[in-house]
Amino acid sequence: MINKNDTKCPKCGGKMQPRGYYWRKIQLGNNNFKKVKVKRFRCNDCGSWHGKLPDDVLRYKRYSKAIIEGFNKGKLNTDMLEYENFPCDITVKNWLKK
Ligand SMILES: [Zn+2]
Repeated sequence: MINKNDTKCPKCGGKMQPRGYYWRKIQLGNNNFKKVKVKRFRCNDCGSWHGKLPDDVLRYKRYSKAIIEGFNKGKLNTDMLEYENFPCDITVKNWLKK
C-alpha cells in the first residue's frame, strides 16, 4: 500500500499511473466489515502494482492490526500483511471460525 500523497513507486521511485480501483473488505471486529475502494496504480518503470487506500481507512488499519496481533500466531503470512496492510478475506474467515 502507498500513502495518500505518494506519487512515486515505493519499489523503484518511478512514476505511477492510476489504473482504476478495486474493492477491499476489511475487518472491523465483532463480525463487522467495511468495504473500501482502493485506487490502483501501476509503475511505469518497474511495472509493479500498488494500492492507495482512502483516508478514512487509516483509522481501521490500526484496529485491524490489533486484531491481527490477537489472532495471529503463525496463521497469517506476515509478508503479505506488510505488503497490503490488511489480511485477505480468507484470512478473516479463518479468524471468525475460531
Ligand atoms: Zn517502480
